[in-house]
Amino acid sequence: MSYKFVKLASTPLMSSSLRLTSRAYATTHDADLVVIGSGPGGYVAAIKAAQLGLKTISVEKDPTLGGTCLNVGCIPSKALLHNSHLYHMAKHDFKNRGIETGPVNFNFQKMMEYKVNAVKQLTGGIAMLFNKNKVKLVKGVGSIAAPNKVEVKGEKGVETINTKNILIATGSEVTPFPGVTFDEKQIITSTGALSLESVPKKMLVIGAGVIGLELGSVYSRLGATVTCIEFLGSIGGVGIDQEVAKTLQKILVKEGMQFKLNTKVISVKKEGANVKVEVEASKGGSKETLEADVVLISIGRRPYTKDLGHEKVGIALDDRGRVPVNNKFQTTVPGIYAIGDVIHGPMLAHKAEDEGIVCVEGIKGLPVHFNYDAIPSVIYTSPEVGWVGKSEEDLKKEGIAYKVGKFPFLANSRAKTNGEPEGFVKVLADKKTDVILGTHIIGPGGGELINEAVLAQEYGAAAEDVARVCHAHPTCAEALREANLAAYCGKPINF
Ligand SMILES: Cc1cc2nc3c(=O)[nH]c(=O)nc-3n(C[C@H](O)[C@H](O)[C@H](O)COP(=O)(O)OP(=O)(O)OC[C@H]3O[C@@H](n4cnc5c(N)ncnc54)[C@H](O)[C@@H]3O)c2cc1C
Repeated sequence: MSYKFVKLASTPLMSSSLRLTSRAYATTHDADLVVIGSGPGGYVAAIKAAQLGLKTISVEKDPTLGGTCLNVGCIPSKALLHNSHLYHMAKHDFKNRGIETGPVNFNFQKMMEYKVNAVKQLTGGIAMLFNKNKVKLVKGVGSIAAPNKVEVKGEKGVETINTKNILIATGSEVTPFPGVTFDEKQIITSTGALSLESVPKKMLVIGAGVIGLELGSVYSRLGATVTCIEFLGSIGGVGIDQEVAKTLQKILVKEGMQFKLNTKVISVKKEGANVKVEVEASKGGSKETLEADVVLISIGRRPYTKDLGHEKVGIALDDRGRVPVNNKFQTTVPGIYAIGDVIHGPMLAHKAEDEGIVCVEGIKGLPVHFNYDAIPSVIYTSPEVGWVGKSEEDLKKEGIAYKVGKFPFLANSRAKTNGEPEGFVKVLADKKTDVILGTHIIGPGGGELINEAVLAQEYGAAAEDVARVCHAHPTCAEALREANLAAYCGKPINF
């Protein structure tokens, strides 16, 4: 690191607090790799790069590390999902199990504090991992000034990093809803939903994808009347098997959530303490006005490239605002790479992490292999949904001959004993070769169980392979084995 005494001109990008009007110290660093963004893609890539011997600098504009996932995504949502689930069980289920607790209540502020602490511990953990692995952190907004130069505008002024390689891991942001301003109190994004001050009486959720269902579940369990409005004819978002989607909807309705499918939102307007949402059938028809005290808009996320400077080096974004890359995560500019939500593919933390690892291995000259057919998706509702690979709808569309093996949790000894018999495992295997093409789970621990199916799919297993592996008894994983048995020879043992 070297320090140069230079005069810096102020630029329109610099806020008044950052503007340096007189002589100031400018810091220059040298690196093998600069990773812009410290979300799950960026921080994991930075650690892996340092472990592989690259002098690595991570650049982050936000006060804490971890990006969307740790600060306003996976982690805080799972803290609220887990604790609201425990509350719901204590209130509605404990008595059946012989657990007497007296009146069950919740303290919403405490629940939020628990969430804040979970986030604090994990984001702080990344800072420790950076220290341990000798990843240097430079705080501020990183901008690509040239193919081998990143400028970071932060509280200390402008720091310049001369680098051999740059990795763009700037993630995504909430997709805005045309004509609607979020106040994060009555009209909220997922970020607002993670920090409400109280539980609304009535909540409308626009978009019944993964995030809408998870956050809708949280508030439904805590007593809000929740209605999800969805443009499409089914819930759960892209890639979900329709049989699973229908089962999930039935279970959530039984738990108290309501759904308006095939419904288009025309306007969202605040009126005093209420928000009015005008809707009509997706295909057109008569209009209807719904009212709630809080409206959560969760219609998706879009890549984030503000202030990145990609255009200065000639990187053009695609029609969806993503950074185009080849199968080695290289952009059109040699030495500049991109991973995670800012590129193609599902917007998932584990996808971003894995891309980060193989991308930096590629920078070190190692082979780059990434199998997009083996990325799991999970909806952390109760019961959980997990899937990997093709759905039945995909296979029909692609004209692939397949066979189905299904096993209900009702016939699984552990699920039945635990009082969690809802759902099933469905395995889709190639009709001729028996190779597994997709696995779909709705049931207890579906988000954990799916990892075994991912392992099988990654290694090109046949249904028979999984069916012949010894599984511990009694476990819910036995349902996965039985579904594979059903796919392979048509005959499960316990059903
Ligand atoms: C409510 C919610 C729940 C979710 N739950 C799950 C889940 O359960 N499982 C799952 O897999 N995924 C989940 N996701 C999605 C997951 O959070 C994202 O897929 C993941 O965070 C993407 O990682 P990333 O590293 O690509 O980007 P991000 O996590 O978005 O991180 C990008 C980072 O880059 C920084 N940055 C951007 N531009 C600059 C710049 N110019 N200079 C410096 N820093 C910059 C940002 O501040 C940010 O810290 C959820 C998302 C939401 C919103």
